[in-house]
Amino acid sequence: MNILIVDHSKVFRSVLQKMVANLGHHSIAVGSGEEALDVLHKESVGLVCAALSLPGIDGIALCQHLRTLPQFVKTPFILLTSTEDQRQRHEAFEAGVTEIQERTDAKDLTDHLSRFFLQEPQEVRGRVLYIEDSQVASHIMIRLLTQMNLKVDHFRTADAALEAFEKQDYDLIVSDILLEGPISGVGLVNRVRNLASSKRRVPILALSGMDDPSRRIELFRLGVNDYTTKPPLEEEVRARVRNLIINKQLLDQVEKQSQQLYQLAMKDELTGLYNRNSLREFAPKYFSNATRYDYPVSLLVIDLDHFKNINDTRGHQFGDSVLAKTGAMLHQACREGDLAARVGGEEFVVLLNHCKAEDAHRRAEDICRSIASLKPEGIAVTASIGVTARAQGQAVKFEELFKIADRAMYEAKKQGRNRVTFVAPT
Ligand code: GH3
Ligand code: MG
Ligand code: MG
Ligand code: MG
Repeated sequence: MNILIVDHSKVFRSVLQKMVANLGHHSIAVGSGEEALDVLHKESVGLVCAALSLPGIDGIALCQHLRTLPQFVKTPFILLTSTEDQRQRHEAFEAGVTEIQERTDAKDLTDHLSRFFLQEPQEVRGRVLYIEDSQVASHIMIRLLTQMNLKVDHFRTADAALEAFEKQDYDLIVSDILLEGPISGVGLVNRVRNLASSKRRVPILALSGMDDPSRRIELFRLGVNDYTTKPPLEEEVRARVRNLIINKQLLDQVEKQSQQLYQLAMKDELTGLYNRNSLREFAPKYFSNATRYDYPVSLLVIDLDHFKNINDTRGHQFGDSVLAKTGAMLHQACREGDLAARVGGEEFVVLLNHCKAEDAHRRAEDICRSIASLKPEGIAVTASIGVTARAQGQAVKFEELFKIADRAMYEAKKQGRNRVTFVAPT
């Protein structure tokens, strides 16, 4: 970005030029307001830093002149002065000065400039759902959004937009508030915010031709993230759109990372089942609920037979694939509310919620048969399964039942493996 520095002191100009260069930008420095106007007529300038007191026209008058040039109507103008004179400060802002900075406070000025440069438009990628029924307004907005390299899907009615919203992922909704058709912009906001999926969190920028405070308040209460009036000030819309999309994408990233952390902490990587930690965390609740409401719950401990042999003869990788297949099979065998976990090398636990002893026994037999019929690469793989169940009226803890099911599993091993053994809690 090109920065115009206007100050009568040569030393100050060169200090400021160095500062700007250190921040990675180019500057032009002049000693008077007249020279500055000369530059402004020839060059493109993204920011002006001018001293208040200058030979000839002063900083405020320079700013007034600048604002009469159409290409500089929105260019930030920092006035450098130490004046505490409130009247003069007011006059400066009236003239279009955007910020007043202490001329002699180099640190403050550097901080201000580096923040300013940080805010320089950064490229965002994303897809915008845009709802607008006016042809003129939509023409301007679509041009603006596509110039930002955003993908834009434009609809004239809220119901058509909602249909598209269900099918496609969007980073931002930009919607007119007064819409033709059965659903207004307010209705659209309401429907999006009431969705069950995470799509309800997509940011919404509302646009309205009528800047009515009660409508604005209503929109923000409904969950609009931002609001601007029509016709929009292009630079402002660009900044709002950019901020909303960046924030949405940052939130998406945080959510993804937290899901990954959850997966790492709670799930077994090889089988996708829960791991020992999560079993320890979730299982007690199954049993305390079952005791409290007196419904049945059963527990299976499953251990693959002679797994060491399988590893020894076919290799560890093959062993891993057997574990993964067993995991997938157990996952399939679970109903909603059940929980399957891999708790050791070739040892699994399945919690059967609302399942009484006879049914648990039958389901364990099914699992035992399913494992035996897996036959990975024609190799016989079997399991020994211990089953126990919480008897009616019994207050029993997970750890106690686990020990019993584990004992039952060893009993199955003793009796020759590839079988199910039931042991009732005492
Ligand atoms: P049993 O019928 O008495 O259960 O015999 P076993 O060989 O299955 O039992 P043992 O406890 O002696 O051996 C378990 C084997 O499981 C030993 C170990 O190499 C293997 N194992 C443990 N974790 C993994 C794993 O993550 N991947 C593979 N491939 N093997 C594993
Ligand atoms: Mg409209
Ligand atoms: Mg084993
Ligand atoms: Mg074992």
